[in-house]
Amino acid sequence: MTVAAAFEALYGAVPDGVWAAPGRVNLIGEYTDFNDGFVLPLALPHTAVAAVSRRDDGVLRLHSADVDGGTVHLDVADLEPLSGGGWAAYPAGVVWALREAGHPVTGADVHLGSTVPTGAGLSSSAALEVVTALALNDLFGLGLSRPELARVAQHAENAFVGVPCGIMDQMASACARAGHALHLDTRDLAHRQVPFDPGSQGLRLLVVDTRVKHALGDGAYAERRAGCEAGARALGVRTLREVSAAHLPEALGRLSDETILRYVRHVVSDNARVERTVALLAAGDLRAVGPVLTEGHASLRDDLRVSCPELDLVVETANAAGALGARMTGGGFGGSVVVLVEDECAAAVAAAVESAFAGAGYAAPGVFPAVPAAGARRL
Ligand code: ADP
Ligand code: MG
Repeated sequence: MTVAAAFEALYGAVPDGVWAAPGRVNLIGEYTDFNDGFVLPLALPHTAVAAVSRRDDGVLRLHSADVDGGTVHLDVADLEPLSGGGWAAYPAGVVWALREAGHPVTGADVHLGSTVPTGAGLSSSAALEVVTALALNDLFGLGLSRPELARVAQHAENAFVGVPCGIMDQMASACARAGHALHLDTRDLAHRQVPFDPGSQGLRLLVVDTRVKHALGDGAYAERRAGCEAGARALGVRTLREVSAAHLPEALGRLSDETILRYVRHVVSDNARVERTVALLAAGDLRAVGPVLTEGHASLRDDLRVSCPELDLVVETANAAGALGARMTGGGFGGSVVVLVEDECAAAVAAAVESAFAGAGYAAPGVFPAVPAAGARRL
């Protein structure tokens, strides 16, 4: 059954419209977005799809095809941050954030379903937020731009759900274009579409989902964030974005805390890796991106220390089996790896990873090609 048909069966009327917003993978630039740095995500073909009708009586009804437990009934005037609500907090948080910003959102009926795997580091949460924000923007004629919608979605996740995420996921979902990666400057949300079409050069970008569930709320993310802020203070800059790769050795020489030194080295070098990757893509030299990915993984594993044995095994096995390069993507501690590989090697690399996982006693990983897809849209 389509999402629109399911909406009609549930609420007894056809929806005002149907919207879609994708999940994303980040090609490179990890843990840089809360340091005002650069990121380079691309949207996945996997999307959250929402059928939505406007209401003017203050009632908000939310239903997900992917969750047992029926329809959640809320009153828009009573929405309160951090009040729980499980999955419904993501779309409800968007309604709350819009109203907080003074937008007259007076209720809605929502039914949604998603093909973005949850908790795999592919941003199923941002897909949910952005699809809701775009639908409400259209239905209530709010006239917000894509970056403004991304900000609303991020504010919902930060303040209403209580997850201290950066802006990358929401910007990727809201602003990505098919056949492109999104070069985003998180300091001011300036962004540029960078042509990225591995298929046209006989390459493939594989996503390997380790099936290990990350839990960003467990404090490790907040600890890295606090460490980066302490590093910026120690260096006398507002954020680590202001430290250039050329000045990194000098900056590191001024840091006495070993942990903070490692965090700073990761953020500054990963910002530089984003810029190197963009230059390589502009030059059409996609194969040379592989080693940059693997270098980025080593930095996340050794300096930021946000990898895990399953992620490391994917990267090592894929590279040993002939991949051009690989890195964990997303917050780490599980989730997914991106692997850049020649088309003709893709099957062998996937098989090598699957057999390494079986050998290590891990659950079978999910492997699929990431074809850079379109951002949020009305269907
Ligand atoms: P990620 O964004 O990496 O997938 P998160 O932990 O940030 O992981 O977000 C996952 C959460 O988003 C789920 O636990 C659920 O609450 C919500 N979510 C994602 N997709 C759906 C869906 N299709 N239906 C209901 N809730 C969803
Ligand atoms: Mg998320």
